[in-house]
Formats: sequence, structure tokens, C-alpha cells
Amino acid sequence: MKSINVQGKEFEPYITSKEIHSRLKTMAGLLNHDYKDLDPIFLPVLNGAFIFTADLVRYLDVQPMLQFVRLSTYGDEMKSSKTVQSSFGLNQLKLKGRHVLILEDIIDTGFTSRFLMEYVNRQQPASVRIATLLFKPDAFEGDRAPDYVGFHISNEFVVGYGLDYAQYGRELPGIYRLRSMATK
Ligand code: 5GP
Ligand code: MG
Repeated sequence: MKSINVQGKEFEPYITSKEIHSRLKTMAGLLNHDYKDLDPIFLPVLNGAFIFTADLVRYLDVQPMLQFVRLSTYGDEMKSSKTVQSSFGLNQLKLKGRHVLILEDIIDTGFTSRFLMEYVNRQQPASVRIATLLFKPDAFEGDRAPDYVGFHISNEFVVGYGLDYAQYGRELPGIYRLRSMATK
């Protein structure tokens, strides 16, 4: 993997596609075990989780009901705005008594997933958990860490594998991190 430029910013290789897929197989194994016979409903959060979800579900043996939702907090900035700006797919959900798994691309401050978690909880699901490809523990401000984590990463801005910078870079097969001035 080589460093790349996305919208005028330099990003360096961080997690390869091979590492991601190997980790997804392990995560799928855990989910197969934990959700066997529970008829789970998975709620992937658009846009970022689209590739993570597409690859993860193809490693599963359990058949989840899949319903995509969208929340957005970031805009085109590199910092979390901590307010939910828009959402869709939420009011169609019927979650009462269901085993719900929220699928996120990344948990940073935890604000987005907490908002969704509270929304889901109001519908009295049988259970609700969170799976995220990436988790930034040093940025996290919540009190409940995600239940399934692909990779714990440092507090840096990343793109690729579904994650964008100003809506670019989502198609990259691996994950890249913003190159700091110091390492140039
Ligand atoms: P939160 O701070 O609410 O946990 O995260 C909000 C959203 O910010 C995430 O769902 C994700 O879309 C975006 N985000 C957080 N950290 C990063 C990052 O390093 N790179 C990218 N591309 N998006 C991020
Ligand atoms: Mg997101």
C-alpha cells in the first residue's frame, strides 16, 4: 500500500484489506455463536458502514434481518459535531422484542451510536448491542464501550473501506490515516 492523496490531504497506509478480512471472519464467528437461533435484526449505519456490512454479512452463517439507517453528524469536517443532523430509516423500524445489532464503521466520541442506542431502546428490544469496525478509545466519551470491535485505533483521522474525507475515499480497499506534518 502506498500513501495516497484524498481531496488535497495526504494519507498513509494503516490497515490492509487482508488484515480487515481476516478480522471480519473472526467477528463473523463470534456473531454466529452469539446470535444463533435469535433471528437478529442488524442496523447498519449509512454511509460509512456499507462496505464493512457487505463484507461481514457474507462471512456469516446466521441470517440477519438487515435494515439500513442513516444518521449523520460529521459533515465534511474532521471533527465530530456531536449533533445528529439528519436521519432516515428510523421510523420504519419494528424492534420490540427483537435482538438488535447496530453496525458502525467507526466509533469516535460515541455520540452517534448513543443516539441510536437510545432510539432503539425506546422500542423495547430484547437486546441491543453495537459492532464497529473501528474504535477510538481515546476519543470515546460514552460509558458503554462497543460490544464487538474490529480494530482499536489511535485518535487519528482515517479514510477508506467505507470511511470518507469530504465524501471521497470510501472505495479504497484498505484503511489509511491522515499523515501528520511531523512525519512528512
Ligand atoms: P462519533 O463521534 O459520534 O462516535 O462519530 C461520528 C461519526 O464521525 C462516525 O460515524 C464517522 O462517520 C465519523 N468519524 C469519526 N471518526 C472518523 C474518522 O477517523 N474518519 C472518518 N472518515 N470518519 C470519522
Ligand atoms: Mg458514520
